Amino acid sequence: MKRGQNEFTQSPDSKFRIKVINSLCISAATCVIRAPNTFDLDDDGIAYVKEGTWDDAIAIIEGAKSCPTTAIIIEDFQGNQVYPAV
Ligand code: SF4
Repeated sequence: MKRGQNEFTQSPDSKFRIKVINSLCISAATCVIRAPNTFDLDDDGIAYVKEGTWDDAIAIIEGAKSCPTTAIIIEDFQGNQVYPAV
């Protein structure tokens, strides 16, 4: 299991926590295109969350919104879900 797969991960530079639900990921990679410093695909073509400095908040949200299966969940540090809207 890589970083951010099925469990939230965070970066000190971002106000978000991010999780990718592996079973929903269909390797469309639009998240990687929208937020290339935040998401990448593992050897099986499943998205994970990268280490280091992520993209800005808008790009991360755009990446999550671009996912055709809503496999990306974003929370703030208080555990409030930012995307998808609840
Ligand atoms: S956009 Fe969604 S389905 Fe496509 S790689 Fe990213 S998480 Fe997976």
